[in-house]
Amino acid sequence: LAQRLQGLGTSIFVEMTQLAQRTGAINLGQGFPDLDGPVELLELAARALREGPNQYEPARGRPELREAVAAHQSRFYGLALDPDTQVQATVGATEALAAAFLGLCEPGDAVVAFEPYYDCYAACIAMAGGVRRPVTLRAPGFAFDLEQLRAAVSGGAQGDASGGVPGGGAPARLLVLNSPHNPTGKVFTRDELTEIAALCVEHDLIAICDEVYEHQAFDGEHLPLATFPGMAERTITIGSAGKTFAVTGWKVGWASGPAELVDAIAAAKQFLTFSGHGPLQHAVAHGLGYEASFFTDAATALAGKRDRLQDGLRAAGLEVLPSAGTYFVTVDVRSVGEEDGLRFCRELPERCGVVAVPTAGFYDDPSAGRSLVRFAFCKQDAVLDEAAERLASLR
Ligand code: PMP
Ligand code: GLN
Repeated sequence: LAQRLQGLGTSIFVEMTQLAQRTGAINLGQGFPDLDGPVELLELAARALREGPNQYEPARGRPELREAVAAHQSRFYGLALDPDTQVQATVGATEALAAAFLGLCEPGDAVVAFEPYYDCYAACIAMAGGVRRPVTLRAPGFAFDLEQLRAAVSGGAQGDASGGVPGGGAPARLLVLNSPHNPTGKVFTRDELTEIAALCVEHDLIAICDEVYEHQAFDGEHLPLATFPGMAERTITIGSAGKTFAVTGWKVGWASGPAELVDAIAAAKQFLTFSGHGPLQHAVAHGLGYEASFFTDAATALAGKRDRLQDGLRAAGLEVLPSAGTYFVTVDVRSVGEEDGLRFCRELPERCGVVAVPTAGFYDDPSAGRSLVRFAFCKQDAVLDEAAERLASLR
């Protein structure tokens, strides 16, 4: 195994999903809906598979998808994008992230990331030769310390050569932001985003914004960082059909932003996969044009599931931390006399027949998330109810 991949281990989602399959437990670990997205989109994709397009798409993506992404960003956020030069279709948000780091990060560049972070960030940054500079979101509220962010962005206090931060004392080159945030469910507030944007501008950072849960913000509004002053020209915004249309297996994603940055992503993407899935890009292009009510209705339904699972977790004696968006809710297992979320998750299938994901694995500093565990609520009500019933034995 190449050195750059050593220490990254196996994705926690693989481990926990295998555990669910082996034990027959309810999988509230990996975040995927147990009902597929709109039938109309499934039919459009099926027809496209029968009748085409079934050959290579342009490397930038099917024009109708790029146009649909540009129209979506304009309609929801007022962001103006040229579909030919400012949008890149990708194989899921994961490829967009990988291509962004490969295309924009020089070896040794520091990348600021809020921990806990989605697991592919650490791996993609490592593959690009970058150095992570974590900024910690601390339970229970998952706020960050502005001074820690400032130090991570600037490279530390002036006059201090190392700055006391990984990657030496130089300002960071990139910042990666995920809001709504996996695994915590945090939706970054306008004030927080204003502070982040100001630091990016002051230190000339490029922002990579993972907004795959943009339509799953229940409490508070999803505000793209690209809409803040000085940010449109330095921000790559990433979206995915997986969450937006409940088709996580499709792996249709996109990145948008200034042409120069999108060019860098395109330069990497062309040699990763060249192009994406034509029939699915065709269907997703249609879905992005749905009326606003499609997106808000889906969010309302999902918020109901969040409340349902939260009630069940509380009834089981678990302390539930606030989740304002995404597919996920976090509990602190100290409320049921446990210390270690990883051990709790490894034992949970045997104890209760439920699988969850330990949050510690998403932190560089695992002690910050040692007792936290993430549950997914993107499941049918009956499944959530059954899980809650099983978890009641924790009491
Ligand atoms: N970013 C975050 C925060 C995620 O939760 C996920 C999983 N959907 C991804 C990226 C990857 O998205 P995709 O499946 O489109 O590659
Ligand atoms: N994004 C999903 C989650 O956070 C899982 C993605 C994966 O399995 N790699 O649960």
